Amino acid sequence: MTFHSFLIKYGEIGIKGKNRYMFEDALVRQIRYALQDVDGEFLVHKCHGRVYVDCEGEYDYEETIESLKKVFGIVGICPVVRKPVKELEELKKDVVAYVGEMYPEGSKTFKVEARRANKRYPVNSMEINCELGEAVLEAYPEMKVDVHNPDVRLNVEIREEVYLYSEIIPGPGGMPVGTNGSAMLLLSGGIDSPVAGYMIAKRGVEIEATYFHAPPYTSERAKEKVIDLARLVSAYAGPIKLHIVNFTDIQLAIYEKCPHDELTIIMRRYMMRIAEYFAKKDGCLGLITGESIGQVASQTMQSLAATNAVCTLPVYRPLIGFDKREIVEISEKIDTYETSIQPFEDCCTIFVAKHPVTKPNVERIEKSELNLSESIEELMKTAIETAEVITVGK
Ligand code: ATP
Ligand code: MG
Repeated sequence: MTFHSFLIKYGEIGIKGKNRYMFEDALVRQIRYALQDVDGEFLVHKCHGRVYVDCEGEYDYEETIESLKKVFGIVGICPVVRKPVKELEELKKDVVAYVGEMYPEGSKTFKVEARRANKRYPVNSMEINCELGEAVLEAYPEMKVDVHNPDVRLNVEIREEVYLYSEIIPGPGGMPVGTNGSAMLLLSGGIDSPVAGYMIAKRGVEIEATYFHAPPYTSERAKEKVIDLARLVSAYAGPIKLHIVNFTDIQLAIYEKCPHDELTIIMRRYMMRIAEYFAKKDGCLGLITGESIGQVASQTMQSLAATNAVCTLPVYRPLIGFDKREIVEISEKIDTYETSIQPFEDCCTIFVAKHPVTKPNVERIEKSELNLSESIEELMKTAIETAEVITVGK
């Protein structure tokens, strides 16, 4: 079957009035972005409160569906066959041919659902339903009508053309990116943070990211891996502005001046401070991390509190209640897992203490940080000024 268009179904709860326009415009924009590199020419447009993707000529069907499945806000994708508007007898032939091709095995229950958007069409939708239903039954006697719970809902929409569709391919749900402000993701090379970014983007939030590396303790390859991860997330989230911060001198200073069992917490606090600086500069409304309660010493409730204490923006931790296994499942689904498990050092693993504190006390940590007071302002300034900023994604 050759499909000429896709009808895009989206959740409509809570998107009335002005919000609806915003939602639809963002959806159209994100669909265009997603289809940018797909083979074929596509016209994405809104029409009578619906969003359509019209395919102009040849295109790659599988690739198109795969790309649309990455657009947040899409609940369902209906492949559409378009036919010229014809009088009812001719329309019957088109519909019968469609059913024959879509359901060659026959023996399905069905219901015709006609919609007459073009009121000049001389037959009303009730009559179209009856006439087309009869024509299908006549052509395929093994099919049966079920108006309550049919296997196949045969949609026939009379517009400037006739749109025939009956299949719904599930989309990812969520809200189109760009409808809910932006947030700064602390992106490491691990499994968790790309998933965290994905989950917040799914709620319509545009993502920026900050990665801290510590050359020469972390390799160029580790940095490449994070860029790869950002690119994978950007397939869903749209282009990601990635800040790559050289964290070596700050880490060395902490290592030299602070108690070793507090290294990770202090380091994480400086990461948050720097990420928040970039976030505020770009108008982001929050920070995102891949933390989950109790996963490691730096993610106990006390550690999270100590890390959180330096932030004034809200910190979103979408994985907070997830087990590793559940996080891995999502990372496999969104295709970041294989990249995340590549074995490159990230900057936290170099300077880890044998016995990190699991119940840090904020006052004690603040006191330890005073040991850095001579140099830290300057080191932070340099880290911020020398950050490499790249945009990842098409
Ligand atoms: P991940 O799998 O995302 O690396 P993790 O289980 O290794 O997480 P930690 O290393 O404790 O956890 O880091 C917790 C969170 O802190 C990460 O999810 C990420 O948001 C942030 N983070 C850690 N290291 C870095 C880094 N080098 N650059 C940017 N953010 C980081
Ligand atoms: Mg990590």
